Formats: sequence, structure tokens, C-alpha cells
Amino acid sequence: MDNTQALLLKFGFKNFKPLQKEAIDFILADKDVLLISPTGGGKSLVYQMSALLKNGVGIVVSPLLALMNQQVEYLKSIGVKAEFLNSSLNPGEQDDLIWALRNNQVDLLYLSPEKLIQPSVIGFLSYLEVSVCAIDEAHCITQWGDGFRPEYSQLNIIKEHFPNVPVIAMTGTADIETQTEIIKSLSLHSPEVLAESFNRKNIEMMISQKKQSFKQLLYFLVHEVAGESGIIYCRSRKNVEVLSRNLKDLGLTSYFYHSALSAREKENSANSFFADQSAIMVATTAFGMGIDKTNIRFVVHMDLPTSIESYYQEIGRAGRDGLPAKAVLFYGLQDFIKLAQFEKDAAFQRNPVDNVKSTQLFNFLESRGCRRKALLLKFNESIENCGNCDRCKHVSSEQNATVAAQKILSLIYHTKGRVAVSTLIHILHGKITRKVKDIQGMELSLFGKGKELSDIGWKSLIRKLFAEDCLKVSGEFGTEFVLTQKAKPVLRGEIQIIISKDFHLPSMKDATIEP
Ligand code: ADP
Ligand code: ZN
Repeated sequence: MDNTQALLLKFGFKNFKPLQKEAIDFILADKDVLLISPTGGGKSLVYQMSALLKNGVGIVVSPLLALMNQQVEYLKSIGVKAEFLNSSLNPGEQDDLIWALRNNQVDLLYLSPEKLIQPSVIGFLSYLEVSVCAIDEAHCITQWGDGFRPEYSQLNIIKEHFPNVPVIAMTGTADIETQTEIIKSLSLHSPEVLAESFNRKNIEMMISQKKQSFKQLLYFLVHEVAGESGIIYCRSRKNVEVLSRNLKDLGLTSYFYHSALSAREKENSANSFFADQSAIMVATTAFGMGIDKTNIRFVVHMDLPTSIESYYQEIGRAGRDGLPAKAVLFYGLQDFIKLAQFEKDAAFQRNPVDNVKSTQLFNFLESRGCRRKALLLKFNESIENCGNCDRCKHVSSEQNATVAAQKILSLIYHTKGRVAVSTLIHILHGKITRKVKDIQGMELSLFGKGKELSDIGWKSLIRKLFAEDCLKVSGEFGTEFVLTQKAKPVLRGEIQIIISKDFHLPSMKDATIEP
């Protein structure tokens, strides 16, 4: 039995979990590592064992104080010399810790990022022999993530002070942009990126256009997942409550959950859902973290998720038991416009943060071919067509809409982006409505020149132009459209615009459910 195997036994395990051994080997070879594996994947063991297998002290940076405390207690209980440097130490304890560190008596030192970046702390540590630097929850580096921590953006000082110490950054999920940002912010040297496969084959992915989405939802609940348990996500708290009540009125078992409920209400609602084999939970994304109900058979998005990563995480709550599960997302052009307006607002309030995340989400939703292939590509994984998504199951026809794209872009340009989509389509169809008259739409050269696409076709094309970043919202309230630089090559015919036929989940004819 080698060293590593013996040590594994000390931690009480017989075998490694996926990627643990690979990651440890890279650290032992003094390589930087970015380890992406879901919560519960066993990331802690990687730096803990590495620190024990190498000389010197392992430094662990984590934003979660309570977790660090727990870890240190646990490690001490199995005989590992772990310590936690925090502000609650009294001067005597601090001196003891400093003495122990100087005398090579500590295997693992846990501390918060704020603590580490203090000049006196990092200055002191850089005189020690350090085995490995581990950075937990490394996604906190990215500005748009929910867990953004400004101190994380200063962690590049680790490489400045410890140029030869391997650094391991760890996180639960990270798409390519997040990965790149982590690597850049920490100045990792050509790191080994280890990521568990993101392919959850058992989840059927459906992305449907909205067409009376409540009736489509009922069709899905009755014809596709009758009697099964699942989560329905809505953006607003009000919609969560209304939808849950409507489902209840139809005789379904439904609970709701959002951040404005009291702690007690939340707990009751979650517990009732967990206890019931066929319950539906209608919720905002406040419901999610740490759900370990394994028999969730479906996840529905009635509105757009905030990013590709959150979409992936949210649908991933279905089918944890590995059995078939379904994910449906409903959206339409209006949802694109709303999200773009929301992001514009947010960008205005925070800093000029780009609307990168929504453009990427739109891009994924409007991508061609297999849904899963497109999704996994965002996580740097390439697969064959999956056979288990709306695109693979109902082969969708495509159409070259470049000329139509030129028409709608010019029309938006000539109407200064101030005309609503429905009116633009009336103009293209040559319909004289009051609004068309108001803006003298009949005088426009494109009046009646866009009969090649239906109402739905034009909306689908406009979505595609948002996804291709040719169009943006502007104006004080985000109610106007502007053409971006990327519209130019389309207008010049240098870029082709191909649209796929929309998939619509059928609607329930009659909104009653027989018991
Ligand atoms: P993460 O940090 O990736 O969320 P943890 O390091 O907290 O995950 O580990 C999750 C759980 O898996 C812990 O209970 C841990 O004891 C257990 N674990 C870690 N490695 C192994 C292993 N090789 N075999 C079995 N269980 C393991
Ligand atoms: Zn597919």
C-alpha cells in the first residue's frame, strides 16, 4: 500500500471519488489546478491530502467561516494538525499559532480572503514553507455571480508571494468565461482544468416558445409527468403565489416558496414538498440550494433563468436518482426584451458590467441543433447529438433569413428604434392599423415588403438578432431598440442569419383536470 492509499484510509475512505486522485497528483507535481466538481464531490479531501503528502503548511482560503470552523474541528479529531486563523483568537492564542507555524507544526491553515490579503499576514506566511494554496468557492471572483466577494479579486497576490507553490482553485460550477476569469484573477500558470462531466443524460431537455404558457404547462403536467413531483420556477414572487393557487384549484398538490416568506413558512413549505411523492413546488430561485430530494422528476421554467449556469444548475435538480426526468423552459421575445431591460438597469446601477450573461443565454436558446450539445459546449464539453431534447426528437427545419434580417434591421434603424415589435410586423405585412397610421408607416419603403415570414417568424428572427448581439435595448426605460456594430456585417450580407423553426409544447385544450 502506498502513502496515498494509507492516507485515504486515515480519512476513512476506501476509494477515491472522481477526479480526486488526478487533482492530488497534479499538486504533488507542483502544478496549478482548477477543480470543478459539484457540491459533495469531495473537493476538500484533495487539498487536505496534498498538504499532508507534501512538506510545509497548506493554506486554505474560504469565504465561509462556519464551514472552516467545522473542517478544522473535524481534521483535529482525526489527528490532522489544522488551525484556523481568525479575528476571534486572543493575543496568547495568536502567539501560539505563530510559534507552531514557524516550527512546522501545522499541516493546514484555514483563513478568510480578507485575512490573507492583510500585508502583515501574507508577509508573515511568505517566510514559511508552503505546500499548497487552496481557494474554495473560487467562483466568488466573478462579478456577476451571486456570491461575488471583492477580496477575491485581490487574491492574485498569492502568486506574487508564493510563485512556486501550486494553487488549487475549486468551485461547483463554472462555464468557460468563469473559468477564464478565475484563472486570470489568480494568475494561475497554465493550470490543469479538471471538471466532472456536466452531461446529465437522463434529463430530457425541452425549450418551448410560449403560447399561452399556463395551458402549455397544464398539458405538460397532465400528459408528460402526471402524478410526479417537480419544481416550477417563476421570476416574480407574485407569479409564484398565483400559479401555485391556480394549480391547487385544479386539484393538484402544490406548495410555494420565495424569499419574502418567513423562515417558518419556508420550512413548512419545503418540508411538505420533500415529504410528498407527487407534490409540485412553485418557487423563485430562492428555492434550490442544497435540495437533496432525489426523486424530482421535472423542472419547469416559466420565465428565463438569469444565466446559462443557473439554468444548468436549476434543471440539474431533477433526476438526481439517475432515472428519466424532464426539463421544460418556456420563453418568448418579450422575455428577451424584459431581461435585456433588466440587465441594462442593473448595469447602470452597478458599474458598466456588460450584458454578457444575457447575450450568452439568448445565444444558447437560439443556437442551432441539439440543445444539450449547445449547453455542454458552454462548459467546454463536446458531445454527439443527444437524442433526448426537443431538437433531437422533433427534427426542426431551418431557414436562411438573412434578407429578412436586413429588412427588420433597416426598419428599426429608420424608425429610430422607437416602434413596438407588433407595429413593425404590421408594417412589414402591409397592415394598416392605427399605430401604423400614427407613424405614417405606409410611407416607408418596407411597407408590405415582408410577407415571407409570419408573425411568429418575425419574432423568432428578432430573438435571433438579440442572440447574435445585433440588437440591444436602449433609451431611458430600455424601451427602444438600437443596432449594434454587429448588425453591420448582417446588413452588408457578410454574415448569414439562419433561424430554426420554433418548438411549441402543445396547450391543454380545456383548463380542467379530471381527478
Ligand atoms: P465538496 O467540498 O466538493 O462539496 P466535500 O469535500 O465536503 O465536498 O465532501 C463531500 C462528502 O464526501 C463528505 O462527506 C466527505 O467526507 C465525502 N468524501 C470525500 N471523499 C470521499 C471518498 N473518497 N469516498 C467517500 N466519501 C468521500
Ligand atoms: Zn439533443
